[in-house]
Amino acid sequence: MRIGHGYDVHRLVPGRRLVLCGVEIPCELGLEGHSDADVAVHALMDALLGAAGLGDIGRHFPDTDERYRGISSLRLLDRVTELLDARGLRLGNCDITIVAQAPKLYRYMDEMRRSLAARLGCDPGRVNVKATTEEHLGQVSTLGIAAHAVALLEEAVPRIKNL
Ligand code: MG
Repeated sequence: MRIGHGYDVHRLVPGRRLVLCGVEIPCELGLEGHSDADVAVHALMDALLGAAGLGDIGRHFPDTDERYRGISSLRLLDRVTELLDARGLRLGNCDITIVAQAPKLYRYMDEMRRSLAARLGCDPGRVNVKATTEEHLGQVSTLGIAAHAVALLEEAVPRIKNL
């Protein structure tokens, strides 16, 4: 088994959609970024890439690349899944914590979980999504939204040493 961690943060700004785990959340503010700025999927991708020893999303999807402007982060997650598949790695489970003072996200948790599981091609029981505020103690969660993720990968085919 291999473990990985991911963390990301994006600023909340007017005039942008708010997309978390591929689910659009009604909100006056959205997250600023080169892609759709789905901070939860970004943290998850970094956890998956970390577990696989494949660096981070900045390396795979640089924000200087026009191909990724406005792209759905779920499409980037598809690419990460392909990289894992190619290496014989499959998801054991993943756990995401979204840190946001507002909006309230609890009513979207199940939809977010189903959205990610469908995209990852796994049972929803392998995906967990949580949300918390920082009780107005954190600057990040007031000005933006942050996300943490951990992921456990399993080697689908055990590697043979020295091959
Ligand atoms: Mg990001």
